[in-house]
Amino acid sequence: MKKFLKIVFIILLCLTFTAAVLYFWMNARTSQVFGNLTAKVNTTEKIVALTFDDGPTANTPEILKYLSEQNVKATFFVVGESLEKNPELGKAIFEQGSELGNHSYTHQRMVFKSPSFISSELGKTNEEIRKTGFAGVINFRPPYGKKLLFLPWYANKLGMKTIMWNIEVDSNKSSDQIAKYVLDNVSPGSIIILHPMYNRSDLEAIPKVIAGLKEQGYNLLTVNELLEHQQK
Ligand SMILES: [Zn+2]
Repeated sequence: MKKFLKIVFIILLCLTFTAAVLYFWMNARTSQVFGNLTAKVNTTEKIVALTFDDGPTANTPEILKYLSEQNVKATFFVVGESLEKNPELGKAIFEQGSELGNHSYTHQRMVFKSPSFISSELGKTNEEIRKTGFAGVINFRPPYGKKLLFLPWYANKLGMKTIMWNIEVDSNKSSDQIAKYVLDNVSPGSIIILHPMYNRSDLEAIPKVIAGLKEQGYNLLTVNELLEHQQK
């Protein structure tokens, strides 16, 4: 009986350890087993990328207005399904000069999904992005920031880089608090994530973040432009 308990205990210990490793790996922003993952660009220049996830939604024109007013570009990681329903919003993003990235087609958690499912999620969204007129490199950002095994491998197989972020503000903050957090934590090469497609505070933080970054001497680049400055 004692021996049996010992074996059970050892098995439980192994399972816990494996689960902990998998959990850490899924959530880690800077480690990835396959492919190419960036959470921040290694540079000493005062350059950053502002990125927005989800949508496009009805908030898009207001976001673009803030960008145009201060003459900057951002990167929009859009959901293929939403883009298909709102092609004019996708075109508006492209025409403003901002960049479009792939945030999957249906915005499901993609951990433990089959390669064919992931392949279709990425491929369909890329097709929708091309319809906007955007001809640049399309990067990938996984929904919920989760990634495991097939996901980065497939993105990489399709020639896509996985772009994470190193500056994120908790939801339920005011636009002033969001802007302050970003401006206190920004550093050269930062990739900033905001969620203005559904979150009013994030939306209202945009002009404050841009003005503050400029005041600190930062240039706002798209993700592809920022990646060109990666120092080895
Ligand atoms: Zn998302």
